[in-house]
Amino acid sequence: MAKYIFVTGGVTSSLGKGIIAASLAKLLQARGIRCTIQKFDPYINIDPGTLNPYEHGECFVTDDGAETDLDLGHYERFLNIPTSQANNVTTGKIYQTVINKERAGEFLGKTVQVVPHITDEIKRRMLLLGKDKNFDVILTELGGTVGDIESLPFVEAVRQLTWELPEEDVMVIHLTLIPYLKAAKELKTKPTQHSVKMLSENGVHPDVLVCRTEEPLSNDIKKKIAQFCNVKTEAVIEAMDASTIYEVPVLMLREKLDLICLKKLNLTGYGEPNLDKWKGFLDKLKYPKSKITIGLIGKYVELQDAYKSILESFIHAGAMNEVKVNIVNVHSEFITAENVADKLELLDGLLVAPGFGLRGIEGKIIAVKYARENKLPFFGICLGMQMAVIEFARNVLGLTDAHSTEMNPNTTNPVISMMEEQKKITNMGGTMRLGSYPCTILPGSLAESIYHGTEINERHRHRYEFNNEYLEQMESAGLIASGKNPATGLVEIVELKDHPFFIGVQYHPELKSTVEAPAPLFVSFIAAAKEYSEVKHASKGTFVNS
Ligand code: GLN
Repeated sequence: MAKYIFVTGGVTSSLGKGIIAASLAKLLQARGIRCTIQKFDPYINIDPGTLNPYEHGECFVTDDGAETDLDLGHYERFLNIPTSQANNVTTGKIYQTVINKERAGEFLGKTVQVVPHITDEIKRRMLLLGKDKNFDVILTELGGTVGDIESLPFVEAVRQLTWELPEEDVMVIHLTLIPYLKAAKELKTKPTQHSVKMLSENGVHPDVLVCRTEEPLSNDIKKKIAQFCNVKTEAVIEAMDASTIYEVPVLMLREKLDLICLKKLNLTGYGEPNLDKWKGFLDKLKYPKSKITIGLIGKYVELQDAYKSILESFIHAGAMNEVKVNIVNVHSEFITAENVADKLELLDGLLVAPGFGLRGIEGKIIAVKYARENKLPFFGICLGMQMAVIEFARNVLGLTDAHSTEMNPNTTNPVISMMEEQKKITNMGGTMRLGSYPCTILPGSLAESIYHGTEINERHRHRYEFNNEYLEQMESAGLIASGKNPATGLVEIVELKDHPFFIGVQYHPELKSTVEAPAPLFVSFIAAAKEYSEVKHASKGTFVNS
C-alpha cells in the first residue's frame, strides 16, 4: 500500500512548492524509498499546452506526450525518473471526465455536484499512481494558494483522504512564508498563522510547516509558530533562500524534513540517504574552474521560465564540464545583419531556442549565419534547428526565399513543412508531434560521438519537419542529416561537415536532462564552447580563467 504526502501552499504563490516537494522526494529516494511526484493544478485549461509562455512559463512534455506544468521538469531533474500523463491533473481534466460520464448516463439520473462527484474524481486521480505498486510514496503538490476559490475542491479531496486513509499512510505539508520586516528587524508569523487557520477551517490540518524565510528561524520563533499553528516544534522546518535550487535537498536534510515524514508515515528500516552523486554535482557547480558565455537567442528571453529546462540543462552540463555557464539573453527581434557581429562577438557558443510564429525569425536566421561562418559553436533546438536549415538553404544553396510553411505558406522552397500525415492530425484537433520518438544516428557523425551510440529516444513538441525533398541537395553541400526517425525517415538531427560544432535537433533534449544524467548534447556543446573560449583567449594572449 503506497503512502501519500500532500504539499499545499499558503500566504503567497511562487514559494517554491515544486522544489520543496522534489527535494523531499529526493531525500526519500536517496534512502531507497520509491517516490514519484504529481501536480494538481486548479486552472480550467485541460493542460498548459495552449498557454502562452508569458502566462505559465515553459510547457514540459513527458515521454508519453503529455503537455504539462514546468514543475514536472523539476521532479524529473531531481528524481531522475520519468513522469507521465498521470502526473499532472488540472481542474479542466477533472471536469472533462465527470462531464463525459454524465453525458454517458453513468450517474443514473443523479444531480452531479462538486461534492461528491468532482471531489471523488480528484481523489481517484490522487490515488491512481499508488495503485500500480511501483511507488512506496506518492507526493502530491497542490497548485495555487490555500484560500483560492478554485483550490477548494482539491483541499476538500485532501480532507476526505486524510479521514479515509489509515493515519500512518497520509500526511500534509504546508509551505508558507515568514516575512522579515527590515524596519522592525523582525520575522513575522501572523501570515502563517492565518494561512494555517484557513486550511484548518477547511478541515485539513498540516503535520509539517515548511517556512520560507530570508533570515534563520530561532528556536523561539519555531516554538511560537508550532504553538499557534498546532504542530510539533520539530515539525516547523526552516527553508532559507538558497543560492541554487539544487542546494535545497541538502538544506532539508539538515532540517530533518525527511525524518519527520518517515516518522509520521511509520516508514521504518530505511538507512541514511545516499547523496554522494548529488553532492558531487553540487561541488562542481559551486567551484567551477572557468567561465564561458553562451548566447540564448529567443523571443521570450525576458521571461526566464519560458526556457526553464534549457537553463537547467546548462547548469547540469556546466557542472559536468566544471565551467560556469553565463547565459546572455539575446532578443532575436533586435538582431540585424548590421549589428549581429557586435551582439554575438563575445559569445563562446550560440543556442537558438525553440519557438512558434513569425516574430523574431529573421534575427534568428542572421544569428545562425554568423555562427556558421565564424565557426562559433552552434546548437539549434526545434525551431532553432529549422532556422539552421532555412539559413543553409538561403545562403549556401542560394534558395533565397527558402522558409518554413509555418511562417510563409507560399514559399517556393518549403524546406521546412508539414507532413501529409501531420496535416490529417491537425484537422482532427490534435496538433503536434508530441512525446518520445526513436532516432537512429549516422555512424561516424558528430551526433554519434556525442551520444556514444546510434539508437536514442528524445521528446518532441512541434508541427513542422525537415522537408526530405531537399535532403540530397543539402547533404551534397555539407549539411548532413545525422539522425533520422527509423520508421518515417523524418530528419531529427542536422550537422555541418566542416564546422567544429554545428548541430540542430528537431526534438527537445533539454526535457531529459537531469542532475544525475545531463543531456549529452548540452554537455558536448558546453565542452565545445569551452574549447572555443580557450582558443580565443590563447590567441588574444589573455588568461583562460580571467
Ligand atoms: N514552430 C515549430 C514547429 O511547430 C517549432 C516548434 C518548437 O520549437 N517547439 O515545428
